Parts: sequence; structure tokens; C-alpha cells
Amino acid sequence: MLFQEFAALLRAIEETPSRLRTVALLAQAFRQLSPEEAPKAALLLTGSVAPPFTGIELGMAEIEAAKALAVAANLPEAEVRARLLQIGDLGALAASIMPPRPATLRVSEVFDTLLHIARDAGPGSQGRKRAALAALLAHAGPDEARVILRSVTGKLRLGVGEATILDALAHAYLGGSAKTPLVERAYFLTSDIAETTSRAQAGEEALRSVRIEVGKPVRMMLAERLPTAAAIVEELGPHAAEYKYDGERVQIHWDGHRFRAYSRRIEDITHQIPDVLEALQPLTTHPFIVEAEAVVFDPASGALQPFQQVLNRRVRRLTTEILAAYPMKAFVFELLHLAGDDLLDLPYRERRARLEAFVTSSERLALSTASLVNDAPALQAFFAEAISQGTEGVVCKALDGRYQPGQRGTSWIKYKGPAGGSLTDTLDLVVVGAWWGRGRRAGAYGSFLMAVYNPEDDRFETITRLGAGLTDQHLREQLPRLLDPLRQPQQPANVVATLRPDVWFVPSIVFEVQAQELTRSPMHTAGAGVLGNHRGLALRFPRFVRYRDDKGPTDATTTGEVLRLFRRGGE
Ligand code: AMP
Repeated sequence: MLFQEFAALLRAIEETPSRLRTVALLAQAFRQLSPEEAPKAALLLTGSVAPPFTGIELGMAEIEAAKALAVAANLPEAEVRARLLQIGDLGALAASIMPPRPATLRVSEVFDTLLHIARDAGPGSQGRKRAALAALLAHAGPDEARVILRSVTGKLRLGVGEATILDALAHAYLGGSAKTPLVERAYFLTSDIAETTSRAQAGEEALRSVRIEVGKPVRMMLAERLPTAAAIVEELGPHAAEYKYDGERVQIHWDGHRFRAYSRRIEDITHQIPDVLEALQPLTTHPFIVEAEAVVFDPASGALQPFQQVLNRRVRRLTTEILAAYPMKAFVFELLHLAGDDLLDLPYRERRARLEAFVTSSERLALSTASLVNDAPALQAFFAEAISQGTEGVVCKALDGRYQPGQRGTSWIKYKGPAGGSLTDTLDLVVVGAWWGRGRRAGAYGSFLMAVYNPEDDRFETITRLGAGLTDQHLREQLPRLLDPLRQPQQPANVVATLRPDVWFVPSIVFEVQAQELTRSPMHTAGAGVLGNHRGLALRFPRFVRYRDDKGPTDATTTGEVLRLFRRGGE
């Protein structure tokens, strides 16, 4: 496919607010792409040239990309820089200065150059990257240049989520949405959109034969939530409750030669947890994949520390001082693979038995504390014990539940306290917009428009405006750093909103938010499609708790979860 056709497709996608139309456009394009091109196009659609776990990222500095543009457009660098300051968007600038050219660039060619640029590192790489980009741009017309520059700087934001791409693959190659779960399964097992695309194109059999691979992250299973112990027992019956540790979830792979550790966002965090990996060394007789919560503990008292302490280890260079001040202990709760056997499809009861036989506790390594509970009072008592041990609550697990990659099934239910008609649990909400502050907060963000995730539509639906709990330091320093690069000129296509904030953002950043209760409101869109009457759910008295950098937008609280909380609350 010519890159110009691909660029035109992206423009059409940006311009349509309809998800169905986006899926149709993508499916049509996938049908035209060759087996070599399709996986590359899928990666480009996600704004990348390699899956996140590879660590290969696009993200050239704008100023460097602008220099390459100046060379390709044959303009003085100073002029390009001045115009960039004026327009503020390198892609739009490129579209305005590149002359129309006959389309010759192909999708593969552009992808290969971008991959080459992303991979190049070390001495002299900056100059080489610039030269490669300038050479590519020399063949690009306005539309092509716009997409290339947005991609290479890591700013191609289409508002097309992975769920939409997977759906489009089912439409393009397998006859429609009925096969989307099969495509999703392949994706959740491999975390690799390129491989999933190739397999979808090859057909159903290729998708069915996907297996997990030690070394490649499996999309993590997520927990549902319910507000009371009674509701959980009603749902699960007798089940296993485990302490809910408040640290960082890690999936650790030992392939026989080396460790790899992945975060919940499927990023490689091997270098961040050397002490945890050392503690797992005695287990390395066979390849394995385990999941654990890595928790910081107080070196003096041994007491478990809350999640915020994990952030102290998110530094470029972990020093021995940091490791000593914020030591970590791993509480292992899952075994997905052992010595050639995939265990995902075994019932929880059997996985847990294999895990217990496999793990020997030590100072830095333990099994998650688990207990069989038969009724609500027993669950309540175990919950109280969990809290007294410095954890966040419990995760309740169905005894016959399989490990469902990437799913928020009902076989794991988290419980962080009795609700008593109001919300004592927190929600994880995505920032989709902001209003400017007034008075003391003039010139900074003042409040935010927050949304839940609707996985069925791959859309973000608003649920509250949030200002309380945010300090001036958050508003002036931390949040602009996070949010300014995500600003959008218009409402993103994947945000459903009635309110009109001063600024829109690409849904990306997740805040944990406490609130008192859920009410119906015409101002918000969360669940409005289900509840009808143009009224969605809204939070009363929301309060910022913390920034969750371990969660991506699709890990946020879902529409389904808030609907269930609302209905249970009203009973
Ligand atoms: P939440 O982050 O509130 O959605 O709760 C789910 C998270 O709890 C998981 O992603 C894990 O990081 C964490 N967690 C802590 N302890 C456990 C456990 N015993 N089993 C499963 N997840 C746990």
C-alpha cells in the first residue's frame, strides 16, 4: 500500500466520531495490505514500531525532527523553528511547507526507516537519525510528512485503542465481530499486535494455535469489584480470599537463561527490581512465569509500605542507597507457566497448589496469604486481618477460575471495605480534559474532567469534574508535565462527553479518586447508553487520592463496574 493511502486513512479516522465507521475503515485498509505490510501498519496505528515490552520506542525530540524537516523542505533551520513556535504542531507545520509530490513511498518503507531510527543508539546516533528522517521526508508530500513527523516524535494520536484495532482485524479477515474474542485472546497471550495481525490474516487456525511464550508478557488478569462481603459470597460462593498487597504488580519470566519482569502496562521493568529477582534465583531450576505484588517494606521494622514508596525506585539509575532505603519483597500469587506446562487454563485451586509446591519463602519472597472462606462473616474477619497487616484489603478468587489474560472476569473480585450504601472504595479514572484555574490558581489547571472506560465501545465516558485533593504543587508542576504533551485541539474521538472543558487530553493518565456516592446526572455520560434518558452516572464529592502511573487508560474503572456499584448501592 502506498503510504499516501495510509495517511489518507488516518485522516479519515481522525475525522469520524463513529466507532463503527472507524472499524469499517480500518477493516477495509487491512484487506488491502499485504502479509508483510499488515503487521507493520497495525504497529503504526498504535503509534509505535515495536511492542512496548521490547523497549524500542519512537520519541525523537521535536527540535531534532524539525532540523530534518528543514533539510527536506530546503528551508533555513531558523525559519522552520520560528514557524514551529507559531504553529506549535510539527505535523501541521510539515503539511503546510512540504510541496505536493507524486506518491511513491510505501507503508513498509516508511515503517522500516522509522524502526531503524528508533533502534539506532549510541555515539553519533542523533545525526544519523536526523539524516535518515530527512532522506525519508525528501520523498514525502504534505499528508505523508504530517504522519511521519507525528510518528517519529511519538505523537501520533488517533484515538484508536487496541480494542478497536482488534475488532477491525476480526472484520477484515474473519467475517466480523463474532471472532473478535479469538483475536483478543491471541493478543492478550502475546501482547504483540504485529504477531496478532499476522495470525489473524493467516486465519482462524493460526489464531487458535497461539501459546504463551516465556519471555513475552501475558496481558494481566484484572479484578472486578463489589461493595460488600455478602455480595462477593453471593457471587463466588465458598472461595479463596488473598491479602491485597499495595505495591506494584509484576509478571516475572525465567526462560532458563535470564529474568524478564513486566509491569501491568507491559513495560520491561527488569532493571527496577534486582532485589526481587535475586530472591527468585533459588526457583530457577526450570523456566517459569509467576505474578507477584512487589511491595516496599520499612528496613527497620519490616512493616509493609504503601504504593507511593514504589515511586522512589522509578529512577534512571538505581543506587545501592535507594535499594537499601526502599527494599522490596515479592508476594507471589500466580503461576502461569512451569517447566514447559502452560497452567492458565487450570482451575485456580490447582494453580495455587502448584504454586505452593514451587515457591519456598525467604526474607524477600513469600506466597500471598490466602484463606478459604465460606461465608460473609468469615470474609469480613479475614479482611480485618488483612488490613491489620498493612495491606489494602483482599482479592477474592473463584476456586475453579481460570487465568483470563487481559480480562476483568468475575472470578477475581477485589474488596477494600464495607460500603454501607456509599463508596468507600476508590475508583481509577482517566483524565480527559481540564479547566483553567481562577484566582490563586490562575494560569494553572484548576480542575479535571474524569472518565471511566467502556471496553465494549472502546470509549471513555465522563463521570466527574475533579478539583478537591489536588495541591498547588500538583497543579503547577507535576500535572502540567504529565498532561501538556497530551493536549488536543478538539475533543478526542474516543471521549464521550456533554461538558466542554477548556482543554482536551488524549485519554492516558489515570488518577485514583475517592468519592462519597454515585448519582444520576445529565452532565455526565458514564453508563448513559445503558441507563437511558441521557443521564449518566456522576460522583458526589470526588477527591484526588494519587496518580497511578502503573495503570494505563484501559486499566481504569469500567462503565460496567460503576453501573454494578450503583445498582448494588441502590438495593
Ligand atoms: P486494583 O489495582 O485496585 O484494580 O486491584 C487489582 C490489583 O491488586 C492487581 O493488579 C494486583 O496488582 C494487586 N494485588 C495485590 N495482591 C493481590 C493478590 N493476592 N492477588 C491478585 N492481585 C493482587
